[in-house]
Amino acid sequence: MSATPPLSATAGSIGASVTLKLNSAAARMRAEGEPVIHLGGGEPKSLAPAEAVAAGIALLKTGEVRYTPAAGTPAMKDAVIAYTERYYDRRIGRDNVMVSAGAKQAIMVALMALVNPGDEVVFPVPYWVSYPEMARIAGGVPVPVPLDKEAYQPTVAAMAAALTARTRVVMLNSTSNPSGKILSQDFLTEVIGMCQDRGIAILMDDIYHRLVFDGRHTPHCYECTDKSVDEAGILVLNGVSKQYAMTGFRVGWAVGPAPIIKAMSNIQSHLSGGPCTISQAASVAALLGDQQSVDRLLADLEERRNQTADLLESIPGVELLRPDGTFYCFADFSAFDADSARLSQRFLEKIQVVTVPGIEFGMEGYQRLSFCGGMGDVREGIRRIRWLLNEDGAPELKAGDRVFTR
Ligand code: PMP
Ligand code: GLU
Repeated sequence: MSATPPLSATAGSIGASVTLKLNSAAARMRAEGEPVIHLGGGEPKSLAPAEAVAAGIALLKTGEVRYTPAAGTPAMKDAVIAYTERYYDRRIGRDNVMVSAGAKQAIMVALMALVNPGDEVVFPVPYWVSYPEMARIAGGVPVPVPLDKEAYQPTVAAMAAALTARTRVVMLNSTSNPSGKILSQDFLTEVIGMCQDRGIAILMDDIYHRLVFDGRHTPHCYECTDKSVDEAGILVLNGVSKQYAMTGFRVGWAVGPAPIIKAMSNIQSHLSGGPCTISQAASVAALLGDQQSVDRLLADLEERRNQTADLLESIPGVELLRPDGTFYCFADFSAFDADSARLSQRFLEKIQVVTVPGIEFGMEGYQRLSFCGGMGDVREGIRRIRWLLNEDGAPELKAGDRVFTR
């Protein structure tokens, strides 16, 4: 038998998405009857908006499910144009929009369009797990910028210090996965201005921008620059996954300067072609619908955030800065174990609770716990964690028909 042919250097340097890997591991354990509690997931459990489902079914029923233009259907582009006007106060044309198979693909294609081998891609810590890997797949060098713990975002000076002659892209994510924190308008204004002066592209990952609590607002890039979409050097990335609970539909988009969108669309035309036709029809209906499902999701998540944060804060030694949005709590567990991967593994093995280790987001000692699943799971998961970490507590813990020992 011949040996497996060697992999490319890029493939050799890329690991699987830890968040998706944990999703699969939890589903497998559950299917095997294990009382696993999954606090690692990153998708709302509510149903897709009824109008989106109906639109998808209606198209499917025609049996005419064809390729769409590589950058998306005119109807989907128009829905993104309306969204941009509503939430960003900017009027744009169809040549400013590319629709993708999820925001993930939009981000990846943006990096492929902007990054030359060895170029630097700068982003703040804590960052979403896929950013460093995406930068590498595009041939770039990821440059994480450490945060200022007080402000829970990097200082402008730290961002400035990270920019070099090789910097091509700055990626920002507000509201942030995993911290749930909103980047301040002052920070955004300074960083955007700095990038514009140096001709550095800005990628704004806005996938959680509407999922904020306490009546707060996530300042957006166009509140921080007077320039038009064609002149600002900014790509806004978003999608239906989180705000409409439509993760499996795989629809996202990029809005930005026409020449960059054109280059991205050319790349996408070879990579995958247009996104799924049925999913685009469903997404149009979600975007143009009455938005009640988003309001319900938001109210539900805010209540879950309150309960989850209260429970976590009740564990002596755990430090949490309450998230302003998203569906994650990112908490400091370093008082128990500075090695977040080891602690997460201990949670899984000893009490069958899945969390995502902070190291995956560039912050050692932290764990990310999602509250987008059932509150029963959140309560039970945190009860088990509290028990495991409280060495003086009761000698054993029962979960259904399973007894855990330390
Ligand atoms: N950005 C962030 C910060 C995310 O958490 C996710 C979640 N998967 C994405 C982008 C991509 O989302 P999707 O591909 O499902 O649109
Ligand atoms: N973005 C989610 C998360 O961080 C979903 C998983 C993924 O796409 O990586 O958990």
